[in-house]
Amino acid sequence: MFSKQSCFDTTLKTVYIALGSNLGDRVANLLQARERMQSSNLRLTRASSVYETEPRGLLDQPWFLNQVIEAETTLFPRQLLARLLKIEQEMGRQRLLPNGPRVIDLDILLFGNMVMHLPGLEVPHPRMAERRFVLEPLAELAPAIRHPRTGRSVREMLTEVTDQPVRRLTS
Ligand code: ADP
Ligand code: MG
Repeated sequence: MFSKQSCFDTTLKTVYIALGSNLGDRVANLLQARERMQSSNLRLTRASSVYETEPRGLLDQPWFLNQVIEAETTLFPRQLLARLLKIEQEMGRQRLLPNGPRVIDLDILLFGNMVMHLPGLEVPHPRMAERRFVLEPLAELAPAIRHPRTGRSVREMLTEVTDQPVRRLTS
């Protein structure tokens, strides 16, 4: 389903992107990803603290560092996804196992108030509401923002996932 926003709308959109890393120098990986994302058509405006989180799904792997950034962009959703996937590839990400270890994972959480279900691109991110490692850093930046499909705020969604351990590393 497409939102009413036109595909040809070139105004700035506020987007939230989740970063995750559990291989190599995780702090350096997050930093490098932020540096690679920053550009004239994707301007990073704010970053959450970094959190250390237990892996979900496949438990036998190192713990993750997770962070969420806010950015303003003139890119269309497909272009933004292509940019993020290219950065993952350039940073050496290999897809061996679903939910497996990764140097860097970059996910689009929210793209303005768009709702899209395209092959290979769902916005808002389909699993954001069940992931504390996403909601906790997102709540630091935008606690009152609402999921454009369910209408629930980030703060409300966070109260339902408190069973998952996450530890804030930096402020
Ligand atoms: P995950 O992030 O769920 O662990 P991957 O990073 O391997 O899995 O992503 C698999 C695919 O998910 C990507 O190739 C991309 O096409 C698709 N995808 C769908 N919606 C999104 C989104 N909102 N953000 C990032 N990737 C998405
Ligand atoms: Mg991903």
